[in-house]
Amino acid sequence: MPITQAQILEAVEQSDLANRVVCLHASLKSFGPVEGGADAVIDAFLSAGCTLIVPAFFYDNQAPPPPGWSIPQNGLDPEWIAGRTHVVGYDPDANQITREAMGAIPARVIERPGRARGNHPSDSFAGLGPRAAELIAAQSPLNIFGPYKIIFAGPPAWLVLAGVGLTAATAIHFAEELSGRRLFRRWGMLKDGTLCETEEGGCSDGFENLAPAVASLENRIAVGAGLWRIYPFREFIDALVPILRANPSITHCGDPECLRCNDAARGGPLV
Ligand SMILES: [Zn+2]
Repeated sequence: MPITQAQILEAVEQSDLANRVVCLHASLKSFGPVEGGADAVIDAFLSAGCTLIVPAFFYDNQAPPPPGWSIPQNGLDPEWIAGRTHVVGYDPDANQITREAMGAIPARVIERPGRARGNHPSDSFAGLGPRAAELIAAQSPLNIFGPYKIIFAGPPAWLVLAGVGLTAATAIHFAEELSGRRLFRRWGMLKDGTLCETEEGGCSDGFENLAPAVASLENRIAVGAGLWRIYPFREFIDALVPILRANPSITHCGDPECLRCNDAARGGPLV
């Protein structure tokens, strides 16, 4: 039996998510069959009064830096970035998204009329619901986590990992920033062909190492065939910041060749 929008709404309400900001990272497939697909999930949150915030990254806008630009300890493979020759150019009104990485739900969110989309060529957030425009407006190329800063300082909000792990939790990059780790600098292209310098998070492959640090905050519920891991946003960040400060290597993915993890553990780029 496919799960219905009404059942998802029930999970939203039972988990006390109604009328709150919800930062959602989800694998739609993890739910099993969903009557109405991604729309049913989105509408369940919206009908509960939630503001839904999702990552809508589009990596095809990552561009090589201008000639001569270089920052030490920036986790950037010069050969990889030089090879990026098919850059598209960011158009916030177009529905550009790296769907295979972001998933079906963000891909649908950006297609919805009235959705808000951030000002960041490669790593934009998107949102729907009462506070979406206000939160998303805080994003800019050199303030990638502007929306999280407002959410963190505001009324109680939630991080929901639906069928995905902590490696999908973009908010952990915000905790890295708050811990004093400098974000990597990159370049993105805009639709008119101009380049702009951007911030971005690093490698997240080691983020499940942080699970014990947030286990006491976690609420787990089964929704359809899948599992939601739900965390109070501010407490989640507050739990991680001191741990990242005390043990910067805890986020390392374990690959000794990982440029981003190696440089992140040293504090990030020397800007
Ligand atoms: Zn890594």
